[in-house]
Amino acid sequence: MRDATRVVRAGIPDAIQGDPFLPGPTFAGTYHLAGDPASSPHTYGRPHNPTWTRYEAALADLEGGPTRVFASGMAAVTAVMATVLRPGDVVVMPSDGYYAARSLAGDYFGSLGVTMRVAPTAGEAQAALLAGARLLWIESPSNPGLDVADIQALSTAAHDAGALVAVDNTTATVLGQRPLALGADFSVASDTKALTGHSDLILGHVAVRDAAWDEVIHGWRSKVGSMPGPMEVWLAHRSLATLVLRLERQCANALALATLLAEHPSVLTVRYPGLASDPTHAVAARQMAYYGPVVSFTLADRTAAERFLSECPMITEATSFGSVHTTAERRARWGGDAVPEGFIRMSVGIEHIDDLRAALSATLDRLRM
Ligand code: PLP
Repeated sequence: MRDATRVVRAGIPDAIQGDPFLPGPTFAGTYHLAGDPASSPHTYGRPHNPTWTRYEAALADLEGGPTRVFASGMAAVTAVMATVLRPGDVVVMPSDGYYAARSLAGDYFGSLGVTMRVAPTAGEAQAALLAGARLLWIESPSNPGLDVADIQALSTAAHDAGALVAVDNTTATVLGQRPLALGADFSVASDTKALTGHSDLILGHVAVRDAAWDEVIHGWRSKVGSMPGPMEVWLAHRSLATLVLRLERQCANALALATLLAEHPSVLTVRYPGLASDPTHAVAARQMAYYGPVVSFTLADRTAAERFLSECPMITEATSFGSVHTTAERRARWGGDAVPEGFIRMSVGIEHIDDLRAALSATLDRLRM
């Protein structure tokens, strides 16, 4: 079955006369539970909820391994790090990935005796640090710089060195690339972004290759209570059906805008894995089905970037990415990422490309006046 068909049906229960297609969210703190707890699939609201179970079944179908949903992407990241890493272990992180994950590994797990090594996503740099490591953390394409790692090659190198592999698949989504099929042990994502795509919820998930890890991840979530509310999960499941439609439009728009940016004299550099001229394109083309909605580019300086963002009519200034609305931000305003002052991360939505192109061109032209 093609992905466009699978996302429409994933996790939807079998047809029952008179029942809805996707049953509404189940709001339950507890369940009727007489006698032996093993006699019921649902015991208490922290470990079990049928709304999660349906969404998890949908994601497991797409990811190719058992999946658990979490209250946020960071709750999902934490679940993997906390269950895998022990004092004395080494974790190899990308130096150019999402800064909160790097800070969690280095600062929090560092304070518990875990050593973090960092190297850039591109090329073989992470592979060179694997000796004695317990966990290799890959983020591809990396946020915000959009470098691409060869997931298959790095997973093989990590396994040869005795390390487990986790891939943060947030920017690509599971339809953009399938980390478990490429050899990773964990596929982790913030479902807040393109997977759900409407800027209306915070959510994450962890999919695993080995079912034994699923038990561990579920046990962690139940113990620490990092599960989501049923309303968010139901909204996420509802949004999943349009994922292919959204991605096709977003990625086509992103490529068109990246091409425009690459040709414009106001723009110093552009990164988009789908651009044939991008240094990551050959690896990206091998492992990705969609190149994602995020394009990054650099203008002359902070003033030029701020002017662009405030004057471009089609772009809404906001952090985060992956939504149906085109948004952008000057990433250096946060600190945390090693990017130039004029660096902009733009997330391309599903608006008509003619409107987006006209708005970007006119605003970039004005920067030259
Ligand atoms: N991973 C990446 C690559 C992200 O960009 C983010 C958020 O921006 C996260 C994880 C964390 O996700 P959340 O904000 O849902 O906790």
